[in-house]
Amino acid sequence: MATTGIRAIEGTRDYFGNDGNRFDKIETFAADLFSRYGYARIRTPVFERSELFARSIGAATDIVEKEMYTFTPGSDTITLRPENTAGVVRAYLQHSMEKQGGLTKLWYAGPMFRRERPQKGRQRQFHQIGIEAIGSSDPLLDAEVVSVGMRFYEFVGIGNVGLRLNSIGCQKPECRPLFRQLLRDAIRPNLDKYCKTCQNRFERNVLRIIDCKNPECQKLSATLPKSYDSLCPECADHFERTKEGVSALGGEYTIDHTLVRGLDYYTKTVFEYTHDALGAQNAIGGGGRYDGLVEELGGKPTPAIGFALGIERMLIAMEAVGACACGYPLQVYGVSLGDSARRAMAGLIARLREAGISADMDYEGRSMKSQMRAANRREAMCCLILGENELAEGKISVKDMLDDGGQEVVDIFDCLDAVRKILPRI
Ligand code: AMP
Repeated sequence: MATTGIRAIEGTRDYFGNDGNRFDKIETFAADLFSRYGYARIRTPVFERSELFARSIGAATDIVEKEMYTFTPGSDTITLRPENTAGVVRAYLQHSMEKQGGLTKLWYAGPMFRRERPQKGRQRQFHQIGIEAIGSSDPLLDAEVVSVGMRFYEFVGIGNVGLRLNSIGCQKPECRPLFRQLLRDAIRPNLDKYCKTCQNRFERNVLRIIDCKNPECQKLSATLPKSYDSLCPECADHFERTKEGVSALGGEYTIDHTLVRGLDYYTKTVFEYTHDALGAQNAIGGGGRYDGLVEELGGKPTPAIGFALGIERMLIAMEAVGACACGYPLQVYGVSLGDSARRAMAGLIARLREAGISADMDYEGRSMKSQMRAANRREAMCCLILGENELAEGKISVKDMLDDGGQEVVDIFDCLDAVRKILPRI
């Protein structure tokens, strides 16, 4: 098929080999770790009504303005999800999950779509795993959520993940709206010196000026007011308690006032995980509290918090530190020659698989020698070797491939026991 010349679309990619193995492990680890914290898996559709994203992420954000894949097949306008929080909250409301009472904890994994300029660590179809805890405003929950992410990175073998923390306050007039006003007042005298993007953001999304990566803008912004200095008493208290909680759970963080996150729905706590292996796109995951989103989407006022971790950037970091590259090594390889021996081997291999052992055999009619080579290439721990003569005598050779081990001839009915004697040593 390679001759057709059809290639994957720019900004999308295939996952196999080491990355495929790591991808699998990330999802397995997520299921394991998140369930220990009480999160249940949710799967939502990859496309939703476009309105859901405009209302939640915010109409004046990069994602909604420029990056969404939106289609109008018939009368609906639908969008491939650029993130999963909006979909999870939509599902929470649609299925009245609040009626179960208390806190609802959900986790997800899956592809997201944003029409960004592809580069290292930035794709158009990328993958995230994330958690959402809906129904509590307790700062200790903020601390727990932040620490789940840190634990997850340790789990997948990338330590040295940095944690940046900030609070961007709430929608009360004396909190974020007032801070926005302070910012505009401070920026206005120099507005013409800022880059075009910042100038465009001045009225519509002034917070994003603080996190502009342009060095000239950063110089101009160095003396701007800081969000955590302008919080209302409730948000200030929440931020203090969150920091105390993160420290109590053993997390080290830096406070970063330039961290505002791009999306409208965030309130109070925002955080980002960083890793040095990533270069310019050093954010490996991030999240925050979104106390207004459930209400914005038609529910009762319900505080909530979550994060999303990017799988592609995790893969880059895992590659850099050599974490979890190995796949699932084959336990047994069946080497056989002659029609009846091959048929008997197929039966034995099937029995091993039923017994929970990973096993495979030659399906290309190769010589004994090249079957042994295949077993080595597949890093099989043990080989079964069966020729027509052995079969006639009801015998089979079991070769220990670990540590260049020996080979013994056993009764064909005892071969499972002989294999098991070899395997537990790993
Ligand atoms: P965000 O909520 O936009 O900060 O996304 C959370 C995480 O998802 C980021 O820290 C990245 O690891 C990952 N991510 C976001 N956009 C992309 C993209 N276009 N390509 C790859 N990963 C992405």
